[in-house]
Amino acid sequence: MQCTSCETGELQQGHLAQLLPSLNCDHCGGHFFYLADYLRWKEVNPAPLQDTDIEDVEPSETTKAIICPITGRLMRKYRMSSQHQHKVDLSVAVNGIWLDKGEWELLVKSGLSNQLNKIFTDPWQRNIRLEKTADVLKAQYTNRFGEQDYEQLQQVKAWLQGAEHKAEMLAYLVAEDPYSA
Ligand SMILES: [Zn+2]
Repeated sequence: MQCTSCETGELQQGHLAQLLPSLNCDHCGGHFFYLADYLRWKEVNPAPLQDTDIEDVEPSETTKAIICPITGRLMRKYRMSSQHQHKVDLSVAVNGIWLDKGEWELLVKSGLSNQLNKIFTDPWQRNIRLEKTADVLKAQYTNRFGEQDYEQLQQVKAWLQGAEHKAEMLAYLVAEDPYSA
């Protein structure tokens, strides 16, 4: 079967991990496997795999659309995490997953080898969007206040959050002259 990602290599029967059958491209190093097989594998491997369990493979990311090798239809992209741009492709009709070369290793390194199925859920994707928004705001605050002041501001905020008289303390802080009636 021809690889639908690089359109050059052949998809060969193999394994992504022990007891996890996959089709592996002999040219681009991509992997196709079924969610059902992954879930069966996960039952035996409920804990995240360790860094030491895998080889060091530099992940490649094809941002282009990927066609499912089984159905010939477009696969749907899901972001793995807010930490990087890598996306996992899902063939919705057959619940087949495509990972570019090195993305399985990236999942393992990110401690997500046992959470791949969650990536396809709304809460996971919503969380990534929230984290992304938070990162944007953090960058804006740093830009506006400067790194040092922002750091100090965060410390003051954390300290204020826990204070018993938070509201009055805040009022004291912002008052022009807190000693006038
Ligand atoms: Zn390929």
